[in-house]
Amino acid sequence: MKRTKIVATLGPASSSAEVIEEMILAGADVCRINFSHGSYENVLQQINTIRDLNKKLGTHTAILADLQGPKLRIGVVENNGVELIAGKEIIITTKECTGTAERVYITYPQFPKDVKVGENILIDDGKLLLETVSTNGVDEVKAVIRHGGILSSKKGVNLPNTKVSLPCLTEKDLKDLDFALTNHVDWVGLSFVRSAADIIELKHLIANFNQKIRTRVVAKIEKPEAILEIDNIIKETDALMVARGDLGVEVPMQQVPIIQKMLVRKCLEQSKPVIIATQMMESMITNISPSRAEVNDVANSVMDGADAVMLSGETSVGNHPAKVVAAMTKIIQHVEQESDDIYNRENAAPEVNIHNERFLSDSICYTAAKMAQRTSAAAIVTMTHSGYTALKLASHRPKANIFVFTDNYDILTTLNLVWGVKGFYYDKNISTDHTIADIKFILKKNGMVKPNDLVINIASIPLSEKGKSNMIKLSAVE
Ligand code: PEP
Repeated sequence: MKRTKIVATLGPASSSAEVIEEMILAGADVCRINFSHGSYENVLQQINTIRDLNKKLGTHTAILADLQGPKLRIGVVENNGVELIAGKEIIITTKECTGTAERVYITYPQFPKDVKVGENILIDDGKLLLETVSTNGVDEVKAVIRHGGILSSKKGVNLPNTKVSLPCLTEKDLKDLDFALTNHVDWVGLSFVRSAADIIELKHLIANFNQKIRTRVVAKIEKPEAILEIDNIIKETDALMVARGDLGVEVPMQQVPIIQKMLVRKCLEQSKPVIIATQMMESMITNISPSRAEVNDVANSVMDGADAVMLSGETSVGNHPAKVVAAMTKIIQHVEQESDDIYNRENAAPEVNIHNERFLSDSICYTAAKMAQRTSAAAIVTMTHSGYTALKLASHRPKANIFVFTDNYDILTTLNLVWGVKGFYYDKNISTDHTIADIKFILKKNGMVKPNDLVINIASIPLSEKGKSNMIKLSAVE
């Protein structure tokens, strides 16, 4: 069983039930639906396929709906490619037109108002670099080309120095969100997050949509502003994505590895799952094996303590969607087997404060993780309704397997993103003694534990109250 989870992005190469099944069997735990591409009809088909496969395979594959956010783009250009020559000037206009080497359209109406002279304009993941010369403040910006090259249609634009006044959720995002929530996805990814207020706004929209279903939020970190406000963002969000593609354009690329480590550390401290994304196995879009540097990148992300590693183009448009998942699984499994440093993080003990409503569960999880380390227990088993104890336990990174039993089916799929968590549906509610014995029996029957293994159970007693965890039991499997 691997602990670090894999997020696989769906796309034309991986929309069929056959390929999705192969990817799940190869180790994909979460399917990411990228709302930047694809029609609602296709997306709905993908969602239904994942749910059907979960039934067929007995898996809990989660669905992450990734909202595009205020992604800036150039419009269509002549012949789908014009050459920008270094030293020449170009007009960037907010009036729609077919682009040429002298004038291109940008999908950002406030651009002439927001941009300042001297600010950089990066196009196509930074392959082209322009510098702002002047703006008329209404509809045109003049820029000088610093690094030229071929500009093709609809390429992305990054403005690392400009305070972009666009809202975090565009009209398209609001429609996509409505669609995602109607179809009960587990996670919603918010792109280009700049402040904690962006997360709060999205959470309000989710809460107002349906009080009963709790779709959770992944904050995609890809703007320098987000790094400056990271503690507040982590406090508000349910999970984080280190979106290294845009991040590496928006901040100097050499800063990304240290930012990645900082984000993983902070998420672990706050028990928030963290995903490392983009170009992890990029060469496998065409090749049948990854480059040595990519193997190192995945391995180092696992060693940093990521909950999940993500595949984008590799699975959405690549030639070998299932092979790339299988290769990633192999790297993860080897590192998890050989590197003891991943386990038993020295998290600070929870502060003794009986007025903190999480104090009891936090103490129980902390103690269970320590007990598992001291006794070399094979498993920590938790009963959960909200998923909180599973997240908390996972953040201690115990070497013991984390088995989660819940009567809340949505929680099973949601937790599939979280490091080390394996979920089971369980809705019997006879007595604590009966449940603990029954769960041990289920785990033994499924080959998850064997006779004489030590198992730690966490529960809330009385069970019927479905309250916060307040009990630990250590026992051996018979
Ligand atoms: C990224 O920029 O790394 C990223 C994950 O974003 P996108 O949604 O553009 O793939």
